[in-house]
Amino acid sequence: MSEKLKGNILVTGANRGIGLALVKQLGETPGEEGHIYACCRDPQGPGAQALRDLSTQCPGKITVVKLDVSDVDSISSAVQTVSRIIGAGGLNLLINNAAINRPETPLSACEKKDMMEVYETNVVGPFLLVKMLLPLLQKAAEMDSTVKGDKMSCSRSAIVNISSLISSIEKCPETFYIKQMYPYRTSKAALNMLSRCLAEDFRRHNILVAAVHPGWVRTAMGGEMASLTPQDSVSGMLSILTSLSNKHSGMLLDWEGNTIPW
Ligand code: NDP
Repeated sequence: MSEKLKGNILVTGANRGIGLALVKQLGETPGEEGHIYACCRDPQGPGAQALRDLSTQCPGKITVVKLDVSDVDSISSAVQTVSRIIGAGGLNLLINNAAINRPETPLSACEKKDMMEVYETNVVGPFLLVKMLLPLLQKAAEMDSTVKGDKMSCSRSAIVNISSLISSIEKCPETFYIKQMYPYRTSKAALNMLSRCLAEDFRRHNILVAAVHPGWVRTAMGGEMASLTPQDSVSGMLSILTSLSNKHSGMLLDWEGNTIPW
């Protein structure tokens, strides 16, 4: 469980899987400081029951916000909602977790639609969300009086993009034959480049940007055979996030803090 991540934190795809586990562990963090904006496509629907229950169990810590990352109007309205609630404050940490896969699509079955939908959700969504949340991230970076100068951290102002080991071009010869997943692999490789570009761009604002592989996790996406529970993956990732600093901005790391080659 994270002791040190503080401030306002926004998590996408927060209603199940790794996103829900992130909100749960962040919500358990002691202290009154900070707030979690747990975003999901259908806050009132049956798929968000666990998130609604969690929000009730952590009074005053979690706000559930409607957000479909593949829909620009939805992104814009979620950003307005969060901005209104945050008021004069800033956003300290954005975790771009929501994603889709088309796991059963070998080359022969993979159509333009599959490529476009996965790219739209996994790359364009995070890109637009970052763009629209930038003023709030900048505000957080400027407001933190506990840090001096150009010291970056996930408690000051940061963007964490949840990537994957199979985004790694260098590791492709080892991972490709497990499952091809053209749309997903290429989208996560693009997300890595987005992370790297944002890291370079936002260094001047003292906003840290990292891409993180959560491990192979037992969720709807990871499947039942996966080696990690969402809880173990998230507690590993949160402990890594608390230790990130300037030298990690622009890197692809795994849930245990190991560097993954691009
Ligand atoms: P799940 O499939 O269990 O959950 C995906 C989440 O993303 C759901 O909350 C889903 O919401 C949400 N989502 C999908 N599309 C959208 C959208 N358009 N707008 C908003 N939310 C959306 O996946 P995981 O929890 O396993 O994955 C979380 C992250 O970890 C992803 O980025 C994934 O790529 C990455 N990852 C996972 C691995 C694993 O082994 N599980 C391995 C490597 C990386 P809804 O309920 O509405 O569909």
